[in-house]
Amino acid sequence: VAKKQIEQHNEELKRIADVDQLTGALTRRAFLARAQQQFLESAAHRGNVCCLMVDIDHFKSINDRYGHLVGDQAIQHVTKTLHAALCPADILCRYGGEEFCILLPEASVQKAHELAEHMRAQIEASCGPNVIPGDNVRITCSFGVASVEFGGNTLAELIKQADQALYVAKNTGRNRSARYDQAIHAKGQVRAAA
Ligand code: GH3
Ligand code: MG
Ligand code: MG
Repeated sequence: VAKKQIEQHNEELKRIADVDQLTGALTRRAFLARAQQQFLESAAHRGNVCCLMVDIDHFKSINDRYGHLVGDQAIQHVTKTLHAALCPADILCRYGGEEFCILLPEASVQKAHELAEHMRAQIEASCGPNVIPGDNVRITCSFGVASVEFGGNTLAELIKQADQALYVAKNTGRNRSARYDQAIHAKGQVRAAA
């Protein structure tokens, strides 16, 4: 009986470490472990892998104006909307406070960009008065898109490129998605993000 209890306890600890409590998405720690495994598997058969970095726009002002509880609900709603657009093989995590990272195994950059645009539109369309009652405010997100086609040799490089593209999406107006390969032509922007 004691052994079984210890096993249950260990499973519970693992779940707490791997699954973010607010959103049910993977934690960054669990994501990096799974994504690394997927990255190496894909590299072994020269498969394509893409990464999306997602960040809620002007989130600080949502918290300031409507309170943290509404802010938390917005984070939950965004997570649900992202999750609903993914396939089972895709890996989603809450990377930081209001930031998400998604690994897309076997996706062309064009497919990844289309998916980002789909998610962006879904969030804009669905995250309004139902999340923030009594006000005509919409939650939007910005997206950065990177692919191993752009030359990243490691998972860390791929994530960094997605993050740099996200920075460009933010700087060019928010509520948009930017591809790393196209973003680096936006002079100075990526350098500033590095
Ligand atoms: P930008 O469009 O440039 O991303 O602006 P922003 O305001 O979204 O960015 P910033 O990084 O300045 O603010 C992020 C805010 O997210 C600050 C922090 O208080 C809030 N935040 C982080 N985690 C949580 C959380 O779990 N719940 C709530 N309610 N807020 C959170
Ligand atoms: Mg933000
Ligand atoms: Mg942020």
